[in-house]
Amino acid sequence: MEEINEINLYHIRVPMSEPFKISSGEISIKDSIIIELKFKSGLVSYGEASPMAGSFYSNETPESVWDELVNFIRLINRKFDFDNFEEKISKIVTHFSQLGLSSYAIAGIETALWDAYSKRSGKPIYTLLGGNYRQVESGLAVGIYDSINNLLNNIEKYLELGGYKRIKIKIQRGWDIEPILSVRKVFGDIPLMVDANCAYTRDDIEYLKKLDDFNLIMIEQPLSKDDIEGHAILQSKISTPICFDESAVSIKKLRKAFKINACKIVNIKIQRVGGILNAKKMHDFCKKNKISVWIGTMPELGIGSIQALSLCMLDNCKFPTDVEDSRRWYLDDIIEPIIEVKNGIVIFKEDVNVNLKKVKKYMVNKIKVKFN
Ligand SMILES: [Mg+2]
Repeated sequence: MEEINEINLYHIRVPMSEPFKISSGEISIKDSIIIELKFKSGLVSYGEASPMAGSFYSNETPESVWDELVNFIRLINRKFDFDNFEEKISKIVTHFSQLGLSSYAIAGIETALWDAYSKRSGKPIYTLLGGNYRQVESGLAVGIYDSINNLLNNIEKYLELGGYKRIKIKIQRGWDIEPILSVRKVFGDIPLMVDANCAYTRDDIEYLKKLDDFNLIMIEQPLSKDDIEGHAILQSKISTPICFDESAVSIKKLRKAFKINACKIVNIKIQRVGGILNAKKMHDFCKKNKISVWIGTMPELGIGSIQALSLCMLDNCKFPTDVEDSRRWYLDDIIEPIIEVKNGIVIFKEDVNVNLKKVKKYMVNKIKVKFN
């Protein structure tokens, strides 16, 4: 039995190496909330809640998730027995979900408990999930730029840094066919995919048929997250596989999507589905339904990225992950060693430490909860 006697919440803001623009917004600073659990035994574990500022992918913001955690973190089970861990973690997730916490806040708490479980058992998270170590391929993701030249120059720069296994570009109305054509022209037949972050509607279905001309691996989330039927109509008219991202919030949603062939691939994100266990369950559900998955990111800082890499060890992850070299998005990261990508492969280190000096350097808010 372990007992939590202190919890620290740190809201940190790390400058990004370049502004990140997608169809729904733009950011230049990465906000993240680090959850530190301290146990009586001396065990210390970390989780990350990683909403994007400005309601980038969802209604949640760093401030709203911070408030949820400050208000509810005290309700965590203080005494924790790690037997039947998945059953217990499932109850905790359900409890916080019933209290109305967002998937981001729940992911922060849940992943901190997985870290504790992993450290206590001396086994990496992917082993505890039933995965086996394998090399993880990383894909380069780039945002929307103000010119085609800027897009091409940045892709070239980042490909040199990590030698990524595929390119993903963000698209929206007015920024789709031309950038795709240009990337194909300059980078040849490199594996290429596009992500619309819900930018199109059913009215664009005829237009989107043009995407079939570019041999894309997939188109991620073309339509609104709630328009599952619309995706099924689009998928019946295009051969490029549709990948769900924003729509992939639960097994319930996926069940409906698979029934009507609304997508052929799923991007699973720990932050969007409320933690590692839900992500694993969705992975397994997709596998059962013969739908391939891959692991996406917000992107998170190092703590969340390492957890995402653990999920990449599961055998139905068939495409490169969005987890990239720490230096690709951030001027600094809070883990040691940082994540590196060489020749498109992530250099995966199991023993990663959180650098508290850096956490404090980038901290804009902190709350300590002490139990006696
Ligand atoms: Mg996406």
